[in-house]
Amino acid sequence: MYKLIVLMLKYIQNYPYCMDRVRKDIENIGKIGKDPNGGVSRPALSEADIEARMYVMREMEEAGLKVYVDQGGNIIGIKEGEINEPFITTGSHIDTVLNGGIFDGVVGVVGGLETIRLINENKIKNKFPIALIVFTDEEGNSFTPFAGSKYFAGLLKKDELHTIEGKYENIKFGDALKRFFEKSKAKVIEKFPYSIKNHFELHVEQGPILEKEGKDIGIVLGIVGVLRIWANLEGKQSHAGTTPMNMRSDPSIPLAKTILKVREIAKKDIVGTLSYINVFPNVVNVIPGSIKLGIDIRSLDKTELEELEKQISKYIEDESEKEKVKANISSYIEDPVLCAEENIKTIEKSVNELGYSYIKMPSRAVHDSQIMSRITKIGMIFVPSKNGISHAPDEWTDWNYIYKGVNVLYNTLKIITEAKNNKL
Ligand SMILES: [Zn+2]
Repeated sequence: MYKLIVLMLKYIQNYPYCMDRVRKDIENIGKIGKDPNGGVSRPALSEADIEARMYVMREMEEAGLKVYVDQGGNIIGIKEGEINEPFITTGSHIDTVLNGGIFDGVVGVVGGLETIRLINENKIKNKFPIALIVFTDEEGNSFTPFAGSKYFAGLLKKDELHTIEGKYENIKFGDALKRFFEKSKAKVIEKFPYSIKNHFELHVEQGPILEKEGKDIGIVLGIVGVLRIWANLEGKQSHAGTTPMNMRSDPSIPLAKTILKVREIAKKDIVGTLSYINVFPNVVNVIPGSIKLGIDIRSLDKTELEELEKQISKYIEDESEKEKVKANISSYIEDPVLCAEENIKTIEKSVNELGYSYIKMPSRAVHDSQIMSRITKIGMIFVPSKNGISHAPDEWTDWNYIYKGVNVLYNTLKIITEAKNNKL
């Protein structure tokens, strides 16, 4: 009973912040770049994105942050700590896909902003300095995916980045950035010069798992790796009517078996799809001469992906041989990125203190955090997506879950950075 009252008090204490400020910020940003038929289009460094960036910069300053923009266009709001470095960083993106939703990315930025406000209002003395970052072009609709985070992590050099031609507008990255600098009168820095201890990102799940499991929070274990297998199956093109069944080299037979094999392998923690088929000549009365197929398999476990790469390639070869079909196979693995054990534990502690329900889960979508993992230890917090929908006007997360997600981020940063008795 006592525990319940404490929980209710905590709830009442922090709830209005979210309801008023977080909701207002998400709704205000969501109005910028609104499509007439629903949805939001805010490609990075477009006029709409610049307007949204300036909104966030104003709110950052209002919350007492020192705001800078680097040469990757990343907005960096700094709250000083008792020591100069390393930093604790948090953030996400505010660019959207065309006709996207209002929550993807924005929740992490606004959540970080609210976290700073709560730290200020609750007079938390932070030992480590905190930086709230808005990364440029996470979606890659304007220039290239993760343009900002890749620059931030040193994976893209300034010259390379600035000369990338625009996809949304006929403008180079460097010129679009200049337009933003002039309009916002931003304090421009070359690069964020400090070391980072931990990085956290709050994000909507963009999938249906949390809703299905009825949980408030997803603690992300990592971002899944991708195995891609491409196979060219060369058979013998001939007449579908006159060629006897025992005299054929038909590549559609190993193709059909492989489709089912992929489905058989993909269980629980692995998803797999034979998602690309190109049949030549694709004519109804002709036995195909060749078929190109493409397979996409995702898992958090790198060794599992490596084993599947061997297993499926061998399966395609064997089944092709049975049909006298030649198989040319190529494949590659994009490694999974794991969240740091230490960050998973801190988030778990934070969630437990707040009494929310949670599961640990992989992220099957890509995020700026995976790029940040090159330079620091990452952690991610998910909140449920209604019907699992994202990158669409129907993208939705109930405000109650947003509130919980923001509270988890706030509590996580508090746990990690609170100066105990002012001793360093
Ligand atoms: Zn996102």
